[in-house]
Amino acid sequence: MDWARQIHVKTPAELEIMREAGRINATVHATVRELLKPGVATADLNAAAEEVLRKHNAVSPFKNYPGPYPYPASITVCINDELVHGIPTKKRKLKSGDIVSIDCGTSFEGFVADSAFSAGVGEISSAAQELLNVTEGALMAGIDKMRSGNRTGDISAAIQKYVESRGFYVTREYTGHGVGRQMHEGPQVPNYGTSGRGLLLRPGVTIALEPMVLVGTAKTKVLPDQWTVISADKSLTAHFEHSIAVTEGEPLILTVL
Ligand code: MG
Ligand code: MG
Repeated sequence: MDWARQIHVKTPAELEIMREAGRINATVHATVRELLKPGVATADLNAAAEEVLRKHNAVSPFKNYPGPYPYPASITVCINDELVHGIPTKKRKLKSGDIVSIDCGTSFEGFVADSAFSAGVGEISSAAQELLNVTEGALMAGIDKMRSGNRTGDISAAIQKYVESRGFYVTREYTGHGVGRQMHEGPQVPNYGTSGRGLLLRPGVTIALEPMVLVGTAKTKVLPDQWTVISADKSLTAHFEHSIAVTEGEPLILTVL
Protein backbone atom coordinates (compact mmCIF):
# COMPACT_ATOMS: atom_id res chain seq x y z
CA MET A 1 0.00 0.00 0.00
CA ASP A 2 1.56 3.26 -1.11
CA TRP A 3 -0.05 5.38 1.58
CA ALA A 4 1.64 3.28 4.26
CA ARG A 5 5.10 4.48 3.16
CA GLN A 6 4.36 8.19 3.62
CA ILE A 7 4.90 9.34 7.20
CA HIS A 8 4.35 13.03 7.90
CA VAL A 9 5.45 14.38 11.26
CA LYS A 10 3.14 17.26 12.23
CA THR A 11 4.17 20.65 13.55
CA PRO A 12 2.45 22.05 16.67
CA ALA A 13 0.44 24.38 14.41
CA GLU A 14 -0.74 21.43 12.29
CA LEU A 15 -1.67 19.50 15.44
CA GLU A 16 -3.84 22.45 16.52
CA ILE A 17 -5.85 22.15 13.29
CA MET A 18 -6.09 18.37 13.67
CA ARG A 19 -7.33 18.86 17.23
CA GLU A 20 -10.06 21.16 15.90
CA ALA A 21 -10.99 18.60 13.23
CA GLY A 22 -11.08 16.00 16.01
CA ARG A 23 -13.44 18.13 18.10
CA ILE A 24 -15.80 18.41 15.14
CA ASN A 25 -15.64 14.65 14.63
CA ALA A 26 -16.46 14.10 18.30
CA THR A 27 -19.43 16.44 17.92
CA VAL A 28 -20.67 14.30 15.02
CA HIS A 29 -20.36 11.23 17.26
CA ALA A 30 -22.27 12.85 20.12
CA THR A 31 -25.06 13.87 17.75
CA VAL A 32 -25.36 10.44 16.13
CA ARG A 33 -25.15 8.65 19.50
CA GLU A 34 -28.33 10.46 20.64
CA LEU A 35 -30.17 9.03 17.63
CA LEU A 36 -29.32 5.36 18.25
CA LYS A 37 -32.91 4.29 18.98
CA PRO A 38 -35.12 1.49 17.62
CA GLY A 39 -36.79 2.41 14.32
CA VAL A 40 -34.23 5.00 13.19
CA ALA A 41 -33.02 4.48 9.60
CA THR A 42 -29.26 4.36 9.13
CA ALA A 43 -29.56 7.03 6.40
CA ASP A 44 -30.97 9.40 9.05
CA LEU A 45 -27.77 8.96 11.06
CA ASN A 46 -25.77 9.93 7.98
CA ALA A 47 -27.98 12.98 7.37
CA ALA A 48 -27.51 14.15 10.97
CA ALA A 49 -23.73 13.72 10.66
CA GLU A 50 -23.66 15.74 7.44
CA GLU A 51 -25.59 18.56 9.08
CA VAL A 52 -23.01 18.83 11.90
CA LEU A 53 -20.14 18.80 9.39
CA ARG A 54 -21.80 21.50 7.27
CA LYS A 55 -22.31 23.74 10.31
CA HIS A 56 -18.57 23.53 11.04
CA ASN A 57 -17.48 24.14 7.42
CA ALA A 58 -16.15 20.60 7.30
CA VAL A 59 -16.75 17.61 5.02
CA SER A 60 -16.24 13.89 5.38
CA PRO A 61 -13.28 12.29 3.60
CA PHE A 62 -15.42 9.13 3.37
CA LYS A 63 -17.72 10.68 0.75
CA ASN A 64 -16.66 9.42 -2.71
CA TYR A 65 -13.67 7.59 -1.17
CA PRO A 66 -12.20 5.48 -3.98
CA GLY A 67 -13.17 1.82 -3.96
CA PRO A 68 -14.89 -0.63 -6.27
CA TYR A 69 -17.53 2.10 -6.34
CA PRO A 70 -16.93 5.53 -4.78
CA TYR A 71 -18.22 5.41 -1.17
CA PRO A 72 -21.67 7.05 -1.23
CA ALA A 73 -22.03 8.46 2.32
CA SER A 74 -20.27 10.58 4.97
CA ILE A 75 -20.24 7.97 7.75
CA THR A 76 -20.27 4.19 7.89
CA VAL A 77 -22.91 2.37 9.94
CA CYS A 78 -22.35 -1.27 10.87
CA ILE A 79 -24.87 -3.42 12.72
CA ASN A 80 -24.03 -6.62 14.64
CA ASP A 81 -22.01 -8.90 12.32
CA GLU A 82 -21.03 -5.95 10.11
CA LEU A 83 -17.49 -4.95 11.06
CA VAL A 84 -16.62 -1.90 8.95
CA HIS A 85 -17.67 0.08 5.83
CA GLY A 86 -21.45 -0.46 6.14
CA ILE A 87 -23.38 1.90 3.85
CA PRO A 88 -26.28 3.83 5.46
CA THR A 89 -29.67 3.36 3.74
CA LYS A 90 -33.27 4.53 4.19
CA LYS A 91 -34.46 0.92 4.41
CA ARG A 92 -32.16 -0.33 7.17
CA LYS A 93 -33.61 0.46 10.60
CA LEU A 94 -32.09 0.00 14.05
CA LYS A 95 -33.68 -2.56 16.37
CA SER A 96 -33.53 -2.95 20.13
CA GLY A 97 -30.68 -5.31 21.02
CA ASP A 98 -28.51 -4.30 18.04
CA ILE A 99 -24.97 -3.12 18.48
CA VAL A 100 -24.05 -0.36 16.04
CA SER A 101 -20.65 0.96 15.01
CA ILE A 102 -20.38 4.48 13.64
CA ASP A 103 -17.21 5.55 11.86
CA CYS A 104 -16.82 9.14 10.72
CA GLY A 105 -14.10 11.35 9.34
CA THR A 106 -13.81 15.13 9.33
CA SER A 107 -11.78 17.11 6.81
CA PHE A 108 -11.22 20.62 8.13
CA GLU A 109 -8.77 23.26 6.91
CA GLY A 110 -6.71 20.67 5.08
CA PHE A 111 -6.48 18.04 7.82
CA VAL A 112 -8.42 14.91 8.68
CA ALA A 113 -9.65 13.42 11.95
CA ASP A 114 -10.95 9.85 11.96
CA SER A 115 -12.73 8.06 14.80
CA ALA A 116 -15.34 5.39 15.47
CA PHE A 117 -17.44 4.07 18.35
CA SER A 118 -19.80 1.19 18.95
CA ALA A 119 -22.89 1.27 21.17
CA GLY A 120 -26.02 -0.70 21.95
CA VAL A 121 -29.58 0.12 20.82
CA GLY A 122 -32.04 -0.32 23.71
CA GLU A 123 -31.25 -3.36 25.86
CA ILE A 124 -28.31 -5.47 24.70
CA SER A 125 -27.08 -8.87 25.86
CA SER A 126 -24.29 -9.13 28.41
CA ALA A 127 -22.19 -10.87 25.73
CA ALA A 128 -22.63 -7.86 23.44
CA GLN A 129 -21.75 -5.49 26.28
CA GLU A 130 -18.59 -7.47 26.99
CA LEU A 131 -17.58 -7.22 23.33
CA LEU A 132 -18.02 -3.42 23.48
CA ASN A 133 -16.00 -3.20 26.70
CA VAL A 134 -13.16 -5.34 25.34
CA THR A 135 -12.96 -3.41 22.06
CA GLU A 136 -12.86 -0.02 23.77
CA GLY A 137 -10.37 -1.36 26.31
CA ALA A 138 -8.15 -2.57 23.47
CA LEU A 139 -8.17 0.92 21.95
CA MET A 140 -7.11 2.40 25.29
CA ALA A 141 -4.37 -0.24 25.68
CA GLY A 142 -3.05 0.73 22.25
CA ILE A 143 -3.22 4.47 22.98
CA ASP A 144 -1.18 3.91 26.14
CA LYS A 145 1.69 2.67 23.94
CA MET A 146 1.66 5.80 21.75
CA ARG A 147 4.71 7.28 23.43
CA SER A 148 7.89 8.74 22.02
CA GLY A 149 10.57 6.02 21.87
CA ASN A 150 8.07 3.14 21.49
CA ARG A 151 7.51 1.39 18.17
CA THR A 152 4.31 0.71 16.24
CA GLY A 153 4.75 -3.01 17.04
CA ASP A 154 4.34 -2.16 20.74
CA ILE A 155 0.89 -0.71 19.96
CA SER A 156 -0.12 -3.66 17.77
CA ALA A 157 1.03 -6.23 20.33
CA ALA A 158 -0.80 -4.46 23.17
CA ILE A 159 -4.09 -4.44 21.23
CA GLN A 160 -3.75 -8.08 20.18
CA LYS A 161 -2.89 -9.24 23.69
CA TYR A 162 -5.75 -7.29 25.26
CA VAL A 163 -8.30 -8.80 22.85
CA GLU A 164 -7.06 -12.37 22.52
CA SER A 165 -6.44 -12.85 26.26
CA ARG A 166 -10.17 -12.17 26.70
CA GLY A 167 -11.18 -14.78 24.11
CA PHE A 168 -12.00 -12.48 21.19
CA TYR A 169 -10.43 -12.08 17.74
CA VAL A 170 -8.83 -9.18 15.83
CA THR A 171 -9.14 -8.82 12.07
CA ARG A 172 -6.00 -9.24 10.00
CA GLU A 173 -7.38 -7.57 6.88
CA TYR A 174 -8.02 -4.01 8.10
CA THR A 175 -5.62 -1.88 10.12
CA GLY A 176 -4.99 1.38 11.89
CA HIS A 177 -3.10 4.03 9.96
CA GLY A 178 -1.34 7.35 10.04
CA VAL A 179 -3.70 10.30 9.59
CA GLY A 180 -3.11 13.94 8.63
CA ARG A 181 -3.55 15.76 5.35
CA GLN A 182 -4.85 12.43 4.07
CA MET A 183 -7.18 10.06 5.89
CA HIS A 184 -4.70 7.24 5.24
CA GLU A 185 -0.97 7.88 5.62
CA GLY A 186 1.88 5.86 7.05
CA PRO A 187 2.53 4.12 9.29
CA GLN A 188 0.19 1.19 8.95
CA VAL A 189 -0.67 -0.13 12.43
CA PRO A 190 -2.26 -3.60 12.46
CA ASN A 191 -4.24 -4.84 15.46
CA TYR A 192 -1.74 -7.67 15.88
CA GLY A 193 2.05 -7.67 15.93
CA THR A 194 5.30 -7.95 17.83
CA SER A 195 6.68 -5.55 20.45
CA GLY A 196 9.91 -3.81 19.49
CA ARG A 197 9.22 -3.97 15.76
CA GLY A 198 7.96 -1.31 13.36
CA LEU A 199 8.31 2.45 13.14
CA LEU A 200 9.96 4.36 15.98
CA LEU A 201 7.45 6.86 17.39
CA ARG A 202 8.41 10.47 17.93
CA PRO A 203 6.51 13.64 18.79
CA GLY A 204 4.26 14.80 15.94
CA VAL A 205 3.46 11.31 14.62
CA THR A 206 -0.34 11.02 14.33
CA ILE A 207 -2.10 7.67 14.07
CA ALA A 208 -5.73 6.51 13.87
CA LEU A 209 -5.81 3.36 16.00
CA GLU A 210 -8.82 1.19 15.39
CA PRO A 211 -9.29 -2.21 16.99
CA MET A 212 -11.88 -4.21 15.02
CA VAL A 213 -12.93 -7.12 17.21
CA LEU A 214 -14.94 -10.24 16.41
CA VAL A 215 -16.56 -12.79 18.74
CA GLY A 216 -16.10 -16.00 16.75
CA THR A 217 -13.38 -15.68 14.11
CA ALA A 218 -10.71 -13.34 12.74
CA LYS A 219 -12.00 -13.96 9.20
CA THR A 220 -14.16 -11.49 7.31
CA LYS A 221 -15.92 -11.24 3.98
CA VAL A 222 -17.22 -8.41 1.82
CA LEU A 223 -20.93 -8.24 0.93
CA PRO A 224 -22.12 -7.88 -2.68
CA ASP A 225 -22.51 -4.11 -2.18
CA GLN A 226 -18.67 -4.20 -2.49
CA TRP A 227 -18.17 -2.22 0.72
CA THR A 228 -19.74 -3.80 3.81
CA VAL A 229 -17.31 -6.10 5.63
CA ILE A 230 -18.90 -8.77 7.88
CA SER A 231 -17.53 -11.50 10.15
CA ALA A 232 -17.17 -14.71 8.11
CA ASP A 233 -19.20 -16.64 10.72
CA LYS A 234 -21.79 -13.84 11.21
CA SER A 235 -20.75 -13.45 14.84
CA LEU A 236 -20.99 -10.06 16.57
CA THR A 237 -18.30 -7.45 15.95
CA ALA A 238 -17.32 -4.05 17.34
CA HIS A 239 -15.03 -1.17 16.35
CA PHE A 240 -13.58 1.76 18.29
CA GLU A 241 -11.16 4.32 16.87
CA HIS A 242 -9.41 7.53 17.89
CA SER A 243 -6.89 9.74 16.08
CA ILE A 244 -3.97 10.31 18.47
CA ALA A 245 -0.73 12.34 18.42
CA VAL A 246 2.54 11.26 19.97
CA THR A 247 3.91 14.07 22.17
CA GLU A 248 6.89 14.53 24.49
CA GLY A 249 4.63 13.26 27.28
CA GLU A 250 1.17 11.65 27.41
CA PRO A 251 -0.52 10.58 24.15
CA LEU A 252 -2.82 13.35 22.89
CA ILE A 253 -6.25 12.05 21.81
CA LEU A 254 -7.37 14.41 19.03
CA THR A 255 -10.90 13.08 18.49
CA VAL A 256 -12.56 14.12 21.75
CA LEU A 257 -14.66 17.19 22.52
MG1 MG B 1 -12.46 5.53 10.79
MG1 MG C 1 -9.45 4.81 10.22
